[in-house]
Amino acid sequence: MLIQPKIRGFICTTAHPAGCQAHVQEQIDYVASQPAFRGPKRVLVIGSSTGYGLASRITATFGAGADTIGVCFERPAADNRTATAGWYNSAAFEQAARQAGRLARTVNGDAFSHAIKSHVINLVRKEFGQADLVVYSLASPRRTHPDSGETFVSAIKPVGQPYTNKTLNFHTGEVSDITVEPATQDEVDQTVAVMGGDDWRRWIEALEEADALAPDVLTVAYSYIGPAVTHPIYREGTIGRAKDDLEQTALRLNERLKRSGGGAFVSVNKAVVTQSSSAIPIVPLYISLLYRVMKDKGLHEGCIEQMYRLFATRLYTEDPIAVDGNGRIRIDDWEMKADIQRSVAALWESAATGNVEQISDLAGYRHEFLRLFGFDMPDVDYTEDVNADVALGDM
Ligand code: NAD
Repeated sequence: MLIQPKIRGFICTTAHPAGCQAHVQEQIDYVASQPAFRGPKRVLVIGSSTGYGLASRITATFGAGADTIGVCFERPAADNRTATAGWYNSAAFEQAARQAGRLARTVNGDAFSHAIKSHVINLVRKEFGQADLVVYSLASPRRTHPDSGETFVSAIKPVGQPYTNKTLNFHTGEVSDITVEPATQDEVDQTVAVMGGDDWRRWIEALEEADALAPDVLTVAYSYIGPAVTHPIYREGTIGRAKDDLEQTALRLNERLKRSGGGAFVSVNKAVVTQSSSAIPIVPLYISLLYRVMKDKGLHEGCIEQMYRLFATRLYTEDPIAVDGNGRIRIDDWEMKADIQRSVAALWESAATGNVEQISDLAGYRHEFLRLFGFDMPDVDYTEDVNADVALGDM
């Protein structure tokens, strides 16, 4: 079939298999161009098909020669519909990893469920014996609780009072004011239930019980802080409450794992264009301005550059892992540099529909957004018929 982008709000309902493969290959090529490092060898990535999880998986395999098991929740092609980008990404990753002589198994299913946990843990036992790194990179709008069957839905709202600021429709380039009403306590609780640390803890405990963790295992989950302008909608909002919970979970897990020489950490990553971040009001304008400033200063990073730097310069060095006062790894250090934030704040003041194309990297934002779904890739012929029905590993 001929596949073109079909955009609905902040998602694209189509994905291009050859374009996704090219996008994965680009990330592999980036890691291959960097110095190899002595890293993990048997890696489980939960949330492995897009964004930071995919970049972690690529970094582990192509930077450190790791075998990987990935867990994701993606949709295969059916009738006239393409598969999701994460499906094509995972198929492309598996193919490339196997060509490089590495094991790559992908389990597609609900990571929150008991059934997928036990299936994956059996696979870890069979393929690895024990995992030496567990990356937890889920981003989900909902979670069905494995015991109660109750479904929680996350909200992206401020807590306590409404928040008004500028937002950007990145398709049209319109900058307008948006007011987001505060969350109810129930919405806060549900967001923490979806995106907090409970499921990560359950994964680690279940892996421990099955003796599927190496004594010196590391586990890492991802968080975000960002600048004051996004705090009411992010860090001090519902999602921030969930990240507080995730960070507390890291401290508790770390106490346990460090007894045998392992560790649990949250890494605070920089803001990047992913399917999840595109859905948050106010954030796309911030990212467009940030990309412009960081590109101008030669400090721009996407998911793969961030994850390579996290693995090669923080997680796997001779030195102890450096953390901030709250026990977090700060790979958002370049984003949060004072001069970068000063420049972004000044641009924020003046940003409007009439100048946003000039003062921000809106073109780069749109390009990155399309690339998430395998579009706008330089060497892909989008007028060519492609087979949308791509097989994925274990399915
Ligand atoms: P993403 O949307 O690109 O990836 C989410 C992954 O989770 C996908 O692999 C998806 O298949 C998987 N997933 C979702 N629900 C699932 C389920 N029920 N079972 C199994 N897999 C499921 O997201 P991302 O932006 O890479 O976010 C990953 C983490 O990084 C999140 O914790 C996020 O808060 C954090 N983070 C993101 C940013 C950013 O700017 N995007 C910045 C800092 C931290």
